[in-house]
Order: sequence, then C-alpha cells, then structure tokens
Amino acid sequence: MPLEEECRSLDAADPLAAVVAQFAPGEPGVLYFDANSIGAMPLGAERAMARLGDQWRRLRRRGWTDADWLEAPARLGGKLAPVVGAEPGSVIVCDSTSVNLHKLVWMGLEMNSGRNVVLSEKGTFPTDLYVAENAARARGASLRLVASPEEIEKSLKGDVALLLLSHTDYRSAYRHDLATLTRMAHDRGVLVLWDLSHSAGAVETALAAGQADFAVGCGYKYLCGGPGSPAWLYVAPRHQAAAQPAIAGWMGHAEPMAFDASYRAAPGVKRHLAGTPPVSGNALMEAALDLWADIEPRAAFEKHARLGDLLIRTVQELTPQSGLQLASPREAARRGGFVAFRHARAAQLADSLNAVGVVVSHRKPDILRFGLSPLYHRYLDVWELGVRLKGRTT
Ligand SMILES: *Cc1c(COP(=O)(O)O)cnc(C)c1O
Repeated sequence: MPLEEECRSLDAADPLAAVVAQFAPGEPGVLYFDANSIGAMPLGAERAMARLGDQWRRLRRRGWTDADWLEAPARLGGKLAPVVGAEPGSVIVCDSTSVNLHKLVWMGLEMNSGRNVVLSEKGTFPTDLYVAENAARARGASLRLVASPEEIEKSLKGDVALLLLSHTDYRSAYRHDLATLTRMAHDRGVLVLWDLSHSAGAVETALAAGQADFAVGCGYKYLCGGPGSPAWLYVAPRHQAAAQPAIAGWMGHAEPMAFDASYRAAPGVKRHLAGTPPVSGNALMEAALDLWADIEPRAAFEKHARLGDLLIRTVQELTPQSGLQLASPREAARRGGFVAFRHARAAQLADSLNAVGVVVSHRKPDILRFGLSPLYHRYLDVWELGVRLKGRTT
C-alpha cells in the first residue's frame, strides 16, 4: 500500500482521532513538529481561561476554597499519575522542573546521607546539571559525570547516593530503560531521580512498575499544559515520609491555615509544595490533563511509536538523497518523545522547512528534532511532512 493510503487508513482507525479534534488548529497550512518548548493548545484551555476569569471576578478570595484553587496541585497530580504510571497520591503539580529537581536532589542526598556523590551523564539537560551541582555543593557533596550510558553501571560505586538521569536524551531522543537502570542502582544502594520532561505524555514511563524513587518533568512539552505551565514531581509512596522537604513552605505544612510558628511537614507528597500555587497556570494545565480522562495511555504510547516509525520510513522513502541521517534509535522502545536526524546544514534546513510551513527544532551543531504527539498529530501530518521535506532537502 502506498504510504499516503497507509496513513489515511491509520487515521481512520485511530482510537485517538477524537482527541486530535480537541486541539485548536494552529496557523493554517503549518505542520507543527517542534520538540522543545511547547505543545499544541487544547480547545479546553480557552474554556478554562474564561472559567477562571469568571471565578476571579465573582469569587475573589473565596476562589481558594469554592473553586478549589488550593487543592489544584494534588488534584492535577492525581490526573497525571496514570499518564506516567505512578501510584495514586504520589504526584503533585508545582513549580518549575528546575525547582523540583533541586527539591529531590536534596531529598536523595538527605535519605542516603552516608554517601556524597550525585552521578549523572555529561549530556544531561543543562539545567539538571546546574541544579544538581549546586544542591550537591550546598550539602557537602559533589556531582560526578559519565560520558555515555554504557559507563553508568561501573560508575555506581559505594560513594554514590543518587543517580540523576534524563529518561530521554534531549538531542538524540535515546530513551533509557527505566526499570533496568533503577534495579541496577538499587542493587548498589543508590537512589534514582528521573527527569521525564521529554517522555511524559508521549511514551511509557511506568514509574511504579519500574520501582522509581523520584521523578520530575515539565508540563508544557508533550503534556500540552501551555506556555510556562507548572511542572510536576513524583516521590514513591515508600519514601514520602522519609525526609523533610528541601523548601519548607507553608503550602507543604501539615496545616497551612493554622499559621503555626514552626514547620510540620504535610503527610505524603504534598510536603514538597512550597508557596501559593499558580492558579492560572494550573487551570490551563488541568484542561490538558483532562484530555487523558478519555485516553487509554497504552493506546497513546502505541500511536506515538507508530508515528515515529512512520516518520523514519517517510524520510527514508521520500528523500533517499536527503542528507538526513537518523540520530535516534531505530527501535521505538528506545526513543523518547521526538525523532532526531543529523544533517550537515541542519540550521539552514530548519529555516527552509520553516519557510514552507514546517516547524521543527534544531540543536547545535547538526541535529534536527521532529516532536511527535499521540494527542494532536495525525498520521497524514507525517506523510505531508515527507512531501514538504522532499522539496527542501536535495
Ligand atoms: C524542558 C526540560 C526542562 C525544563 O526545566 P524548567 O525548569 O521547567 O524550565 C528540564 N529538564 C529537561 C530534561 C527538559 O527537557
């Protein structure tokens, strides 16, 4: 079957087709495959903004209770938990990924205080490294980096307290095997903190099944929470009572409204809340998370894998002379949210694709990234991408 026909029949049989229709169309004629800063806008976000405006205008202070603004971090965490394979009551939506990383690097070092090294990879997303190095230094520990995934195992030595990994590499989309690495670390007494920013909402992350200790992720990429949306954090239920939070704020107090002079940590994951929740950001994030109420996560992850396989085939079939070389693993189970290719003139190609209405993202020196969402992409979008690529690459 020709590729175009195949895409049409995949779309016709797509169990997520109704979800695709719940996104606002972008600019007419523009194919959106950006992989970095922001996912598409759910139609529900517009309704959420209007609803919040109405609540603010009418309820004012009473919104905290009557509109449940105060409970949003835990409520949203409850909606996100099944998407990332987490236990109920183990996720809260709050702050930025960087802030949440600080909290959990701190907690990992606190829980494993006989050891004084945070281990990570050189290629980890820069903010993760900055935060980890600084938090480690503040606790009299240090950050140690390995050059490649193959070196992780032999570097899990007796002084390592915490292993901090990006589940998906932000340049190649290489996806670690979360369960295997977690088990390997646990066998050596090391806790593991996963950054799921380039995975959550696109691929399976199975935190509970993989025995993960801690995780963080952003809300605005594949989760489509909107510009600057709040991030989230996960603490395994078995660890939740193990340590005081790094930031002891009133929202993480056992009784915020008691105005006690001293701090008592809230039970569960809520102790990691710090200050007043971002009500407008949470309202948009909730509109995005509500899309998952009708989605079987496994169906979404299967669609994502198929989109990625199709994208690779499309590039190879339509543009054999394209100069694009796959930089991501061919096996879908080893790829995160996007597919990356190398190209000798990647920056120029990104610009010329932009000129024909294809938005992709470029990472220096030679990487082009095509972000794929199981929620808002159609299979035909990938075919159309191939058509436009063909005109630009030779
Ligand atoms: C996008 C991303 C972040 C973003 O961090 P913020 O503090 O939310 O800006 C962090 N880590 C990784 C791996 C990312 O991909």
